[in-house]
Amino acid sequence: MSVDRLRQLAHRDARPRKIKADAGTCPKCDSHYSADEMQRNLRVCPACGHHFPVTARERMEQLGEPGGYVELWPELRAADPLQFTDLKPYAERIADAEKSTGMGEAIVCAELEVRHQPAVAAVMDFTFMGCSMGAVVGEKFARACDYAAQKGLPLIVVAASGGARMQEGTLALMQMAKTVIALDALAEARVPVVVVLAHPTTGGVWASFASLGDVTYAEPGALIAFSGPRVIEETTREVLPEDFGRAEAQLRNGQVDDVVDRRELAERIGKVLHILRRPEMEGNGSTASPALQWAQGGAQKVKSMVGRIRPGSTDGEDA
Ligand SMILES: [Zn+2]
Repeated sequence: MSVDRLRQLAHRDARPRKIKADAGTCPKCDSHYSADEMQRNLRVCPACGHHFPVTARERMEQLGEPGGYVELWPELRAADPLQFTDLKPYAERIADAEKSTGMGEAIVCAELEVRHQPAVAAVMDFTFMGCSMGAVVGEKFARACDYAAQKGLPLIVVAASGGARMQEGTLALMQMAKTVIALDALAEARVPVVVVLAHPTTGGVWASFASLGDVTYAEPGALIAFSGPRVIEETTREVLPEDFGRAEAQLRNGQVDDVVDRRELAERIGKVLHILRRPEMEGNGSTASPALQWAQGGAQKVKSMVGRIRPGSTDGEDA
């Protein structure tokens, strides 16, 4: 039985096709909004809660204050070491993406304040080649980690990606290891990382830095999976649950800490950053917040308990 037939049997995608839809039309409920209304509503449909895509620079303004961020390394551009050509040359694709989006690459890094909490943000933009991760995305992400570690600022990551950039081949895949190592260094520097998973976060980005936040939020309805449901259905010839890989299912599976409406996101991140804030910023000379000291103390306690368990014995001593 074909997957199409199985889909029909499962009564999926039964909505009638819409006509005359444009960028301001909600794909879920057909409500229509002007550009101003969309901006005011943070690109969320007030009628049904559908989350429209957001560009990286608009996201910076939503999280911080309008015009209140300083962009880092906007000058970096992709090289084309493989001289790759598919339907058109890679260099041409990059030039087209830059022309249509006004961005040099698929990630924007910046220093900003979220609800008065200073932070470094690395925000991905799906409009730039599906926000695929090539060498420049990896490099900018790694620089953002280094910068956050040096300055002792928390890192906010907003992920949205189709995965590794196939036009860069193995060089793109290498960015998975590079970004994970950069996050490791950040963890050693005791700098917290808040990750927001926007629609869609898939492939090599989900399989590397996007799944390694200390606190991980997802936007409602976002697809968060290594492979999308269509690929899996075509491979396994089985119909998947309707919410497969969606944020709400990933919350049930324990893959994300919460599903947060975009209109509450800045407030929520601001609160988390406030809780994890380093007291030395307030001048008391300590190097770790009370929450961090408590966590480090707990980890030390577990370590000493594990050290006391004798090989071959299941009994541990009370710490
Ligand atoms: Zn709607």
